[in-house]
This record gives sequence, C-alpha cells and structure tokens, in this order.
Amino acid sequence: DGKTFNTETQDDYRRFEAECPGIYQTIASIRERLHADTALRDRIRKKYQIKNTVGYSVNALVDFEHPLDILAHLLVGAEGTLAFISETVMHTVPDYLFKSTSLLYFPDIFTACRAIVPLNDSGARAVELMDRASLYAIENMPNLPAVIRELPGNAAALLVEFQENTYIELEEKVNSFLQAVPALSLLHAPVFTSNPKEQEYFWKVRKGLFPSVGAVRVSGSTVILEDVAFPVEKLGDAILDLQGLFKKYEYNNAIIFGHARDGNIHFLITPEFNSPAEVTRYDYFMQEVVDVVVNKYDGALKAEHGTGRNMAPFVETEWGGEVYDLMKQIKYAVDPNNLLNPGVIINEDKNVHIKDIKLLPTVEHEVDKCIECGYCEHKCPSRNITTTPRRRIVIRRELKKMEIRGDKVNHKILSDQYQYDGMDTCAVDGLCATACPVDINTGELIKRLRRESHSPFANKTALLVAKNFGLMVWGARFALKAGSIMNKLFGRRTMSRITKGMKSLIPDMPLWTDQILAPPSLSVINKQINNTATEKIIYYPSCISRMLGSNVGDKKNLMEVFMSVSKKAGIEVEVPQNVFGSCCSQIFSSKGYSDANKYMANVFIDKMWEASKQGTYKIVIDVSSCAYSIKNMRYNLTDENKARFDKITILDCVDYLHDMVMPRQQAVNKRGSVMVHPVCSLQKMNTQDKFVQLANHYAEKVTVPKHAGCCGMAGDRGFGKEGSNR
Ligand code: SF4
Ligand code: SF4
Repeated sequence: DGKTFNTETQDDYRRFEAECPGIYQTIASIRERLHADTALRDRIRKKYQIKNTVGYSVNALVDFEHPLDILAHLLVGAEGTLAFISETVMHTVPDYLFKSTSLLYFPDIFTACRAIVPLNDSGARAVELMDRASLYAIENMPNLPAVIRELPGNAAALLVEFQENTYIELEEKVNSFLQAVPALSLLHAPVFTSNPKEQEYFWKVRKGLFPSVGAVRVSGSTVILEDVAFPVEKLGDAILDLQGLFKKYEYNNAIIFGHARDGNIHFLITPEFNSPAEVTRYDYFMQEVVDVVVNKYDGALKAEHGTGRNMAPFVETEWGGEVYDLMKQIKYAVDPNNLLNPGVIINEDKNVHIKDIKLLPTVEHEVDKCIECGYCEHKCPSRNITTTPRRRIVIRRELKKMEIRGDKVNHKILSDQYQYDGMDTCAVDGLCATACPVDINTGELIKRLRRESHSPFANKTALLVAKNFGLMVWGARFALKAGSIMNKLFGRRTMSRITKGMKSLIPDMPLWTDQILAPPSLSVINKQINNTATEKIIYYPSCISRMLGSNVGDKKNLMEVFMSVSKKAGIEVEVPQNVFGSCCSQIFSSKGYSDANKYMANVFIDKMWEASKQGTYKIVIDVSSCAYSIKNMRYNLTDENKARFDKITILDCVDYLHDMVMPRQQAVNKRGSVMVHPVCSLQKMNTQDKFVQLANHYAEKVTVPKHAGCCGMAGDRGFGKEGSNR
C-alpha cells in the first residue's frame, strides 16, 4: 500500500505494528507457531544447512523475533512478490590479500567430488566444479592450457582457491590440502599459482562456461540454466543421477558446473520448444529432476537463483504442505490482491513451468548467439537515454515473432520506435562487445541495419563524397573558418544559435559547439624532422586533426605538438603530402555506407603503401578511434591491398608515445594532476593501461573516472544526430 519502513529507525518498528496490524499479526502468529513446533522449526533449520532459495526465506521466521525484521529478511530472494526494497546496507565478504589457485584434474566427476570434503576441511575458500562437457565447450579459448584439451573423455576439474590475509596462513592451508592429495586420485600433481594473471585466467575459464555453451547452442533453441544443491557428501552420487537423466531425455549437450564447496551446482540444457512433444519431454525431465533432488537427496531445487515461475510448481514438493501454507499466508497478508509479481514463487498452477515459454527464434547471425545475460548493459552509452545492447537484440527477436505471427500492426509500431531508440541512438562504438561473453558487437548489427536501410541514391551520394573527400575537408575547414569569424564579430554563441535554428529546418544539420575553433594551420604537412635519427616513422594526421586540431590561444595545434614531442624524442618524422583526400573511413562505416567505406579504405592503403615506402616505416595515427578503424579495415580491401595491409604497421598514437617516445624522454616538468578518459577505441585495442602509464610518466597524479565510457559522438555522428551524445 505504499508504506515505507526502515529497519534502521527504531520508531518504524512501532509504526509497523500500528500501521500494518494485519501483516504484523500474521507474521507474529506464524513465528509463535514455529516456536511451539520444534519438529517444524528443526526441519527449517536443517533445510538451510545447505544453500536454499526455494520459496520465501522462511529461516527469517526462526532467526528473528520482531515481525519487521522477519519481513525485511523474507524480502531477500522474494523476487518483488512482497515489497520493493528501496535501500540496503550490505555486509560484504573480505577480499583477502594472498591467494593461491590451482586447476585440479580428475579421471571422472565422482572422483572430483570426493576431493571436496578434504578441500573444505583444509580451508579452501572456493572449489568450483567443471564437468568434461563444460571443458569441451571452452576448448577454443585462446591460451587454454593444453592439458585441458588432452583430458580423457570422462574427466572433470576443480578450480580451487585458498585465500588468507597473511602468506603464512595461506601456505599452511595449501600444505594441509597437499597432504591429503595422495588419497585423491588426481590425474596430474597439483600446481598452485599466486600469479594474478594466471589466477584471472583460471577464473575466466570457469566464468566462460555458461556463455560458451549458450553461444554454441542450435539456433532457435532456448537456454535453461538450473541451480540445485545437495549435501556435499552426496554430491558425486547426485551428479551421476543427473547425468543419467540428461542421457535418458537426450539433452546431449548438457553441462554441469558450479560451486562444489557448497554442494551447489548448475546444469545447463538447451531444449528446442518448437513442438508439444519437446515441451512434454522437458516437463518429464523436470519432474524427474525434482524427484532426484527432493526425494532422493533432500536437496534444494534452488540454491542461489530465484524460484521464479519454472520452480514455482515444485515449492510445495520441496517444503511440504505445512511450510508452503505458511508462505501463502505471508503472501496473502502482504499482497492480498496478488498484485506484486503474480505467479512467481506462489503459483497454484502445477504446469506453469511449461506455459508461456520464452522462445528465441532464429533472427540473424549477430542476434542468435545472444543469451540475454545482460553483461553488456552497463557499458552502453545509450542505456539511460533509450535502450541497451541486450534490448536492441531482444526487440529484434520480438519483431521476428510478430512477423511469424503475422502481426503487422504491432510490427510496424515497434519497427518505427526501433528507428530512434535502437538505431539512431546507438553510438556503434562496440563497447558492448568488450563485456559480452560471446563477443557480440551490437554496434555491428546496427551498422548492418543502417547499411540495409540506405537507398541506392544515398549510397551513390556517399560514394561521391568519398571520391571528393579532399574537397569536403577543405569545405569543412572553410566553414569552420567562416564560423569562427562570425563568432568573433557577433559574439561567441552566434554559430551555436544559427546552427540550432537551421537544425529545425534541416534535421541532420551539424551543431556548432562552444569548443569548436578555427581550423588549424597545416604547416606540418609534407614536413620532415630529425632526418638523421636512427628511428623513423610516417605521421598520418587524421582528417579530424586537420579540421579540428586547433588549440586555444596561440598554443601549438595537435599536429605541431606531435612533431615537437617526436623531435624531443629524437625520432625522425615524415608527414606525407598525400594525406589529402583520404581518411580512416570511419565516417562512412559508422553510417553504413558500404561502397564509400570500401572506396575510402582502399584509397587509404594505396596512399600509405606509398608513404611507408612499401611497409618499411611504421605509420602513426594521431586519433585512436581512427587507428582502430584502420586496424580493422582489412575485410574491405582488394586482394592487392590486403597483401599491402599485412606488410604495413599501423601504430595508434598511444602505442607510439608509450613504446617509442616515453623510453626516450624524461619528464622534466611533471604536471600536477591530470584526469584521463580512455576512449572506447583504447578499451577495444586493450591499450588503456598504456595510456594511464603514459599519464603517470608525465603527471604526479592521474585520475581515471571509474565509469569513463563512451564519449557519445559515434565518430562524427554526434554533431548531426541527437542521441548518445546527449
Ligand atoms: S549481447 Fe549482451 S545480453 Fe547478449 S550475450 Fe552478449 S552480453 Fe549477454
Ligand atoms: S555499440 Fe555502443 S551504443 Fe551501440 S549497443 Fe553497443 S555499447 Fe550501446
């Protein structure tokens, strides 16, 4: 009913009783009943000896006294079916200073499970199980230890980590485990590492299991990830039973992995729900899983994930009628009209797990691999404006479903909305791909959709622009010059106002911003410096630098700074005359103009082949996003230019400054404090560390904003289109 209570405020305990007497009384009487019923109370305590998130957290009823405290703890894992949590204070687990990690290999999963108790006894903080099928799924991961590929067909692995606050404690624990090793039938002697890079890699292997299987599933199939727990000492037997069910129901690519230390494992299957027979197969399978988990092992059907709808029909099976009835009383007392997340956790429909199953239809290759995990969402610059990469994909799936159903009306409405939300506001920066476990770059999908939406006339116009690019740059320089004169004569906001006014008539009109200056001098072009130095590079000033590389006042422009820095480092630099009329082609690729993109990519390589003396000298690009585009333009080249491309070395300015300039230059006058923004291209090229090291070389204090993501400009698109630049 909209009331808010805070467990940190003493008065709210009294207020809760006064304002919500029905809820208060229901919870108080359930608690009293449990207090009097020792058998039921003990049953609840026993169930929580292993991880359990099935139904409501009824342990709150035996662990806490005041109804408000009980309700607050019932909310944990209640999936929004009881109330909305507006604020929490969390006790976090410690991150220990010293860690020792190993991958242990066993001949089979049962033997691996027998090692869990000795590992727990010796104090391992993490014991993660991986069956052979899951290890097959990550076999193509780069740098994977050969030993994993060579494991026998039934093998299994445990990722084990000891963590302590002192090195001595850590050693003691590892040694105590090593003493137990001779009895454990390991395939190879354990090797522990404290190297953070190796540890990170082991965890990457473990965390990559779920997405790897999800990504290689048959297109159109669904990913079902289950989460069950057993008493640790029975885990080996229970897993053999589950594997028997996979076989019986022919879920042949099922995998098992999970937190063996707690007896908690996940299994993943990829059923195709495209026929009633498939749905029935899944139903029978689930019924048998429930039987094994609940009746045979007294385990938990959910250990850390939510009950949801899939397990709702089985809450009563696991907890028994008496406890299930208590859960229903709680739900009814708090939400008598069943308004909050109806059907989740409490659901009388015993077939709800096979109803309204979410289908993942085959749409297109960029979309089909997506498992909708959402890892990409926090990276997306448009997430708070319109939508996210995951939702861009989900909407494509919805459109496909509408198309299959013949729902033309809604298809049209959603397609129209997708134009701005999905397409126009995507910066195509590809930051989503840096977080996606299956390497989906939603920006590439959007680029293709843009490409397909261009008319032949638009493509021809773009090609004409590409062919006359030199003229375009001069035109832009002229406009910038004229604009800055206007600002000088009539006030510095004049051009902003004029372009804003024109934008209402011409929607794609680029907006003038206060940071825009008159174009820089191009005096460095065709220049050569330090022509006796031992090291020589070719400097390619990007078209952005040629148009917008000015600095305020009479400070050197960007190209002059580049030359000056190189001179101090004693590096010979040549700036070729032939840069005019070329660019990295991002201006065309980001908008999906494929002919123009291809044309410009080939022009660039033609020119750089000549400038680099057939690949003899490295070419340095002064804008990282341009360097990234160039490094990725190979697919667009003719065969002849592909061969040339392979011989040319392209260096981004960050690589150049870090690898070639910094070692030759002492920082004489360090800056006090600087803040740096590692742009998306640096993140994609994985050179943000170099950028920060550079800054540290030349400044006393360097700050990198934690959430320094995309600048939102999407190449030059942000000048003309309102979207992620907002
Ligand atoms: S695109 Fe996003 S939601 Fe889809 S698999 Fe990749 S990270 Fe997960
Ligand atoms: S390319 Fe960038 S803007 Fe587009 S979906 Fe990915 S992260 Fe978001």
